[in-house]
This record gives sequence, C-alpha cells and structure tokens, in this order.
Amino acid sequence: MQLTDERGRSQSGEIAPIPWFGSESLESAIEWCQHIGDTITTSQIYGIPDRLPACQFGFGSALTAFNPALDLPCHTNLDISALLPSGAAAIDCLPALLSQGYATFKWKIGVLPIAQELAIWAQLTMALPPGVKLRLDANGGLNYAQAEQWLSAGSCQPQIEFIEQPLAPNLLAETIDLAQKYPLPIALDESVATFDRIQATYASGWRGIYVIKPGIAGFPWRLAEFIQRHQLDVVFSSVLETNVGKTAALQLASSLNLTRSMGFGVDDWFEE
Ligand code: MG
Repeated sequence: MQLTDERGRSQSGEIAPIPWFGSESLESAIEWCQHIGDTITTSQIYGIPDRLPACQFGFGSALTAFNPALDLPCHTNLDISALLPSGAAAIDCLPALLSQGYATFKWKIGVLPIAQELAIWAQLTMALPPGVKLRLDANGGLNYAQAEQWLSAGSCQPQIEFIEQPLAPNLLAETIDLAQKYPLPIALDESVATFDRIQATYASGWRGIYVIKPGIAGFPWRLAEFIQRHQLDVVFSSVLETNVGKTAALQLASSLNLTRSMGFGVDDWFEE
C-alpha cells in the first residue's frame, strides 16, 4: 500500500500477513483497507486494531518513512543469515553461500533421526571457516531429552550461535529450565510470533533471544519501544515480504542497533 500526504509525497508500506503464524488473514487485511477507502488519517493509523498486526506494520512503517531522520544504512549479506537445506545437502551448499559473503547460517534440525543429524552436524561444523556462525532451528520439534543432546553438543562448539525453538511453544517453563542448564543460548521463534506473545513470554520470565517477525508484530514504534525498554536480545526475521517490507524491517533493526544477523536471506522464504 502507498500513503500520499497533503504535499504529494508518497511512502510505501507492505502488508504481508502469515495467518498460520498468528497474524490476520490476507482477506481480513483487504477488507479493512477497503473499509477505510482512499483517505486515512494519522489517528486512524494509530487506531488500527491489534487483530490486524500486519496492517499495523504496513501502515505504521509507511507513516514512519515520512520521517527523513531515518536513513537506511547499507546492508550486506554479512548482516543476513542464510538458510541451509536440511540434512547432508547443507554441506554441499555451504561453499557457494560463503562465496556470496554470508557469515551466519541457519540449519534446520529435528528433521532426521537425531544420531544421523548429529553426525552430519559434526561434518558441517568442520566445514565452517573460523568466525562463521551457525544457528540450529528445531521449529519446536525436539523432546526434552533430544533438546538436551543438542544443547550439550552445541555448548562445546563456539561456532554455534544459538538453538532456536527446541521445544514446542507451549513448553515455556521447560525451555526456561533448559536455558538455565546449558551455556548455549536458546532463541524462541514460534513462541513469540505476535506482539501479545512477545509481551506474555517476557512476563513469564524469558530472558533469552527473541526471533521476531516485525512484519506481523504490529506497529513498529510499539515494538521498538518494548525491545528497548526491556533490552531484549533480538533477531529479526522474514515474513516472505518483498523489498518494501524488508526495507522497513531493516530500517527498524538499524534504529534499534540490533547486532545479530537477520533472517532475511533470499533462501529464507519458507522459513518458520
Ligand atoms: Mg524458526
């Protein structure tokens, strides 16, 4: 969508819902935009209801883009994590991605039997040049004992940046327990899909990493305020957006001085 102000200046924003991850549906977003019509006021943007987080982000980031104080710094692949294919194919893909300048990779785990996956992982880590980081993403697919195996293995390997969503999103207490037992950091993704869940997870005591999809996390200024107030350790990631939404998310990341690489790699489209 595009906003044009009284002076004729325009800014774009992207509404990229992913309903299976907790946002509104595309139909609900379209229905709301049609209901608003051709003219929208700033207060109507501020009043977009919480049931429409992707609309909040799209309109909110377009509104924010009118502020010329926020210039987008130049981002390179160094700032972005690349998704490796699962299983042994990751080892074959690594050299090409390294030559494109990626220095952080994500590899899905919990896909193959754990013994087989740990064996591939040992080979994969040997293929990583010094300074390159690897994230392990379980998508909530491990049980407690398997999560302990991965945490214990990963804790001895300094190139592992974190393990993402080892347990199902409803097992927060168990995840907090794991985070206290192992030095390898744990990131939550599915557990913190929406702004409500980010707040609830923080209130429940999670002090590890938050993987946040800004495209469905509502108003960018509200998200930024919460991250800063609580000094959250954050990784931003993709909601399959085009460059419009990606630019807005990268701009937000820059304004927050986020230090971890973001999950906006071109091969990241089907990441969850
Ligand atoms: Mg994930």
